[in-house]
Amino acid sequence: MGEQSRLEQIRSNLAVVREDIAAAARKADRDPSEVTLIAVTKTYPASDVRILAELGVLDVGENRDQEAAPKAEATAGLGLRWHFIGQLQTNKAGSVAAYADFVHSVDRARLVSALSKSALRYDKELTCLVQVDLGNAEPVEANTARGGALPHEVLPLAEAIAGAPGLTLGGLMAVAPLGEDPGRAFARLGELATSLRSAHPSATMISAGMSGDLAEAVAAGATHVRIGSAILGIRP
Ligand SMILES: *Cc1c(COP(=O)(O)O)cnc(C)c1O
Repeated sequence: MGEQSRLEQIRSNLAVVREDIAAAARKADRDPSEVTLIAVTKTYPASDVRILAELGVLDVGENRDQEAAPKAEATAGLGLRWHFIGQLQTNKAGSVAAYADFVHSVDRARLVSALSKSALRYDKELTCLVQVDLGNAEPVEANTARGGALPHEVLPLAEAIAGAPGLTLGGLMAVAPLGEDPGRAFARLGELATSLRSAHPSATMISAGMSGDLAEAVAAGATHVRIGSAILGIRP
């Protein structure tokens, strides 16, 4: 195996991902600039976050507060925007609000009040997305337990965010359910996003798409894709 610096490795992976996003956008008759790439840096060190910043990727995502907090601290001053994308315990809201600019995983009202209180304490405006549980097309007993509000809970939760001091309603986020064509699942997300926008026109974010399904997500209207392994490598 040839010796390749981490910088070169990430640079070339990033070029492939950017091209995949651009190709998916063109195919869907969309402008590639409508899609923001969030690099998901979980399990990878702060040095990789610095490399990403050097390569122009300033949106970074993490799913665990214990890992994200020290990484955000170690890379302070680089102008990064931190996206919290994991299941969030209410008692961690204060810690996350200290460094996060976006919380994609708001799935219950108690979390809204906790984040609001924390945003006010830090005197910042935190953009929150409602995470939707896309479940399955057909109702099934055992859900995939990937978190998220049920579709009928989305609008009330969005109202709560929109009305909470310190919080801005960004839009919706989802992870494709296992065992279903992601295109179909993301189409349901797109419909929910359309009805959300009719009540909240500025809530335009659709956070969907990971390394394995970014093309389907972009085709369904994703404005933010969350890409980890395709940029940084397969996590152990
Ligand atoms: C890890 C993670 C991602 C990135 O997944 P990859 O398959 O590595 O691209 C995206 N979204 C969430 C919520 C994640 O936890």
